[in-house]
Amino acid sequence: MKTKIKFLAIVCLAVFVFMAFKPLDKKVILIDAGHGGYDSGVNKYGFEEKNITEAIARKIKEQSNSENVEIVLIRDGDISMNLTDRVTIINKLKPDLVLSLHVNSNSNMKANGVGAYISSNKAFHDQSKEIAEIAVNKIVSSGKLTKRYISEAPFHILKYANCNMVHLELGFLSNENDRNYITSEEGQNEIANKILESLN
Ligand SMILES: [Zn+2]
Repeated sequence: MKTKIKFLAIVCLAVFVFMAFKPLDKKVILIDAGHGGYDSGVNKYGFEEKNITEAIARKIKEQSNSENVEIVLIRDGDISMNLTDRVTIINKLKPDLVLSLHVNSNSNMKANGVGAYISSNKAFHDQSKEIAEIAVNKIVSSGKLTKRYISEAPFHILKYANCNMVHLELGFLSNENDRNYITSEEGQNEIANKILESLN
């Protein structure tokens, strides 16, 4: 518990320093790599969701070269963070957008594709939906993943984050085609690149 308080204090300090020196005209995009630490997320065929989301989040940060966009990672490392911790960081930082990264799984191995959930909060619903449409269309434009749905969901972060927010489900670990793509270096680089393109 003490370690957790220490961790949150460090994050809050980092957020304060970041806000103090942030150029006013920059859009701040917070990337939330789903799961982490003791929470692996989907765990199938030797792959863990937490590692895939972390790898893609890092690639988004590394590949970002826009002067107008600042990418900030909520989770940089294999750290356990519950949903309340994540909401605390989001609402302290007050970003222009949060992108939460996840991968899916289904008992039907044919289920595949990219979907998105958006904030049901009226203040952020319409813009989040627009951003989700653009992001999902960009990601599937590679031709490697299909498009599924964009819908509201009563998820904790989507409900309590006071900003535009999109929860992306970047393909299915249970589907062979999706799995090969989302676990490959090439696929992860391409997804990161498409996400960045959608933010411009
Ligand atoms: Zn997940």
